Amino acid sequence: WKHAPATFRALLEMSRFHGEKLFVVYEDERLTFEEHFRLAATLAHRLIGDYGVRKGDRVAVAMRNYPEWVIAMSAALAAGAVAVPLNAWWTRQEMEYGLADSGAKLVIADGERAERLSGSGVPMIVTRAADANWSEVMGEVRSDVTLPDVEIGPDDPATIFYTSGTTGRSKGALGSHRNLGQAPMTVAYALMSAVARAGKDPAEAAAVRRITLLTVPLFHTTGCFAVLMPTFFTGGQLVLMYKWDPQRALELIEREKVTTMSGVPTNAWQLLSHPSFGEHDISSLTSVSYGGAPAPPKLLERITELLPKRTPGNGYGMTETTALAVYNSGAGYLAKPDSIGLPAAVLDVKICDPHGDEVPTGEVGELCIRGPIVILGYWNRPDATAETFVNGWLHTGDLARVDEEGFVYIVDRAKDMVIRGGENVYCAEVEAALFEHTAIDDAAVIGIPDDEMGEQVGAVVRLKPGSAATAEELQAFLRDRIAPFKVPIRFWFRETELPRNPGGKVLKTHLRKETLGL
Ligand code: ATP
Ligand code: MG
Repeated sequence: WKHAPATFRALLEMSRFHGEKLFVVYEDERLTFEEHFRLAATLAHRLIGDYGVRKGDRVAVAMRNYPEWVIAMSAALAAGAVAVPLNAWWTRQEMEYGLADSGAKLVIADGERAERLSGSGVPMIVTRAADANWSEVMGEVRSDVTLPDVEIGPDDPATIFYTSGTTGRSKGALGSHRNLGQAPMTVAYALMSAVARAGKDPAEAAAVRRITLLTVPLFHTTGCFAVLMPTFFTGGQLVLMYKWDPQRALELIEREKVTTMSGVPTNAWQLLSHPSFGEHDISSLTSVSYGGAPAPPKLLERITELLPKRTPGNGYGMTETTALAVYNSGAGYLAKPDSIGLPAAVLDVKICDPHGDEVPTGEVGELCIRGPIVILGYWNRPDATAETFVNGWLHTGDLARVDEEGFVYIVDRAKDMVIRGGENVYCAEVEAALFEHTAIDDAAVIGIPDDEMGEQVGAVVRLKPGSAATAEELQAFLRDRIAPFKVPIRFWFRETELPRNPGGKVLKTHLRKETLGL
């Protein structure tokens, strides 16, 4: 098993084939595949030799999207450690939770994160700071460096990624080397079958070098497994952003001749709505894809209008599925703009009732997924693991239905749904209808506790600058689109942005607290 294909080692070795091609671009810094290999292999030796890292030890990575994030991750994996990316937005307390929960032996951090982690007692390798020890640790980087000789099997743990914490405290998702190795295959299956379905040659499409603008953090699975890992064997290029900024994104697309923009729906929405959208030459862009949160069909409409002939894509995935699992793009997406598409060919999917029995085609139930990208379980959480992973099936907590052609539709998160007098109101549906209104810039639907109905529907909205709309107007607009019981009875108008986590998801627990004091 030493050189089994389903380990990170295989991806890293394959990446050497791309040698002098550019791999990672960050501002004015450029890293080729070969340079990355040498740096990662060198650091892996240091982790083992100087820091005593042994197979299975946890090595945390706490950084923004710097090239060193990629090097640190690769080094930890090549050393046989379990890599633990920490959320760079986390406060000191949350960081401490991540360190303690994972039992990290070592942290590789950028200056800002290192400050937050100071006093934790865990040894640190620090980069991007005045007192950084990164280059000392790296020492000489030899051109003939090879990977350390560590026996790693496909079922050995590789990563602990923390879930986004949208519905509660982040859980550590323990992924194996097999998961990691299969994630790029899943992405390839999803992309290529979408190309074939559109009547184009998948081999030709695969041969096009993708230059991807990474608009999301690497510490969530979308950035790492749906974008970074496939780049190892496809020889593409990543353009990193320190933080999301639509103006900067437009400049980078133009400057780096970006072909693909990948992120969350909000990224695409903000890019298209930006006042200087028309001022940049973004003709290199051939596809705009997103996932990780519900994408209102209005977004697709805007893409077709403002970026004609580009391939739009909507992907569904979870931390627990090592990122992408179900994908809709091109013609399929245009035909079914409210669907997340077809499951990647390596997966089994079923829709279940609360007893775990399959429901008839077309009916709503919980989406369950089985396959080689489903993680081993939650780290240190036997109860949550037993609840979520049942007989090999991952219970996603998302309500979905599947049509006659196998297309999957996410109707809502089970925890997000508002139950009004026994009638289910799917927030995602009401939000999508609100986005149809030209004055709406952002919207989130929440349940308001109600003695009579159990819950009532409420909406928090932000209007576009210079636009006006009253609650009555919005209600009248919605009544033409959705059933009366789904129309919010109360609106909160806010000037500031809705609170979102780095995965682009609205933090409804915060909203409920702010608006309802709950
Ligand atoms: P937590 O599990 O900690 O509450 P989270 O579920 O937001 O946070 P992630 O694993 O990052 O953490 O996100 C997975 C969830 O994101 C899915 O369960 C689903 O609800 C949502 N999601 C992902 N992609 C899509 C999509 N294309 N359309 C709609 N929802 C999506
Ligand atoms: Mg979740």
